[in-house]
Amino acid sequence: MTHTTDHNQVLFDRAKRVIPGGVNSPVRAFKAVGGTPRFVQRAQGPCFWDANGRRYLDYIGSWGPMILGHGHPAVVRAVQEAVLEGFSFGAPTEREVQLAEEILRLMPSMDMVRLVSSGTEAAMSAIRLARGATGRSMLIKFEGCYHGHADALLVKAGSGLATFGNATSAGVPPEVVKHTLVLEYNNVAQLEEAFGLYGKEIACLMIEPIAGNMNFVRASVPFVKRCRELCTEHGALLVFDEVMNGFRVALGGAQSVYAAQLTGFEPDMTVLGKVIGGGMPLAAFGARRAVMEQLAPLGAVYQAGTLSGNPVATACGLATLHEISKPGFFDDLSRKTRSLVAGLKAAAAAEGVPFSADSEGGMFGFFLLAELPSNYPQVMKSDGQRFNQLFHGLLERGVYIAPALYEAGFVSAAHTDEDIAATVAAAREAFRSM
Ligand SMILES: *Cc1c(COP(=O)(O)O)cnc(C)c1O
Repeated sequence: MTHTTDHNQVLFDRAKRVIPGGVNSPVRAFKAVGGTPRFVQRAQGPCFWDANGRRYLDYIGSWGPMILGHGHPAVVRAVQEAVLEGFSFGAPTEREVQLAEEILRLMPSMDMVRLVSSGTEAAMSAIRLARGATGRSMLIKFEGCYHGHADALLVKAGSGLATFGNATSAGVPPEVVKHTLVLEYNNVAQLEEAFGLYGKEIACLMIEPIAGNMNFVRASVPFVKRCRELCTEHGALLVFDEVMNGFRVALGGAQSVYAAQLTGFEPDMTVLGKVIGGGMPLAAFGARRAVMEQLAPLGAVYQAGTLSGNPVATACGLATLHEISKPGFFDDLSRKTRSLVAGLKAAAAAEGVPFSADSEGGMFGFFLLAELPSNYPQVMKSDGQRFNQLFHGLLERGVYIAPALYEAGFVSAAHTDEDIAATVAAAREAFRSM
């Protein structure tokens, strides 16, 4: 390797001259784990090839969207056909209606959806709509949950409930985050206290039900139950950010997983992205009719987009939803994901490495901790140094996982049992050398 040119490094050096950090989204730069980001040349099924022509088993799948694996023939065909009909019109199309109907069929908590182009845009618009519909300003989010990079959501907890959050990014004025209350995930007492203090001012509570932006942390059933009860009691909207969970942890999203344990449970609003675009820029937010009718052109809450409901993206999303709706799809995906998690646990145990892991549908997470964490401070007790050793140990063996310990992993339908077995074997070697 040392005598040949590393084309990833050549591209990275070139990229750094023209793109800040060489990347168009920070985590891609490998800053947390060190080393050279892999520049992807092409991908097929469960794999991609980097600029050196080296093959990797991909457990990121574009951070979730590629649930069918790369280059699924039915999806490729749908996109090719759509491209021939036109790239973008800025006028309505039948395919947008079909996709909206399909989303609503799979997630009956919503009566209407609006299509947008990114999860960030969907979450930002959902908050504007919640504020407009309730006539209130305040919003609750939880430490460790990510809802895209809208200004009002780039907030970390303040020093107490009475002190509101601080911006986590430069360029976000304190005035913009002064209505955002950041609470600890899975902490019922703090949630009750917050509603006790501010109940009448809270427009919405936004939550990642299975938080994939702190690797993999489930909101406990009692916690979700209290979120639902307190929102109802105080007239606030419960917003499920299912950008990652939706069509990934189950066909009906995380809301169907919680409804199976809490009779009649549904959120008031749902934010979607990632899988619904099948790898194309597409996202959505939806709710009951009375809330959605507050949106322009019907109502007073403004929201718009030049490329919203893009005809190629909707073709890709529709074909993807069609494939994942087939009988047995999620049973098979869940089984493979569970077998990966069980294999990783056994490999870690055999090598004496403290390890915990969990999965739902095609989403998984693991921690170099003996116990699964239940909130962000616990996640952050993970040993970053050891995670980096594991990350590079896997990468050297052709297995690509998220280059940061607070990110979830994704299995696709294209991963075979042999791929899973090869991954577990690679992990065992990596654990041994740690
Ligand atoms: C990825 C993600 C977003 C942001 O979506 P983008 O398309 O990257 O803007 C929002 N919320 C959650 C839960 C996500 O995982």
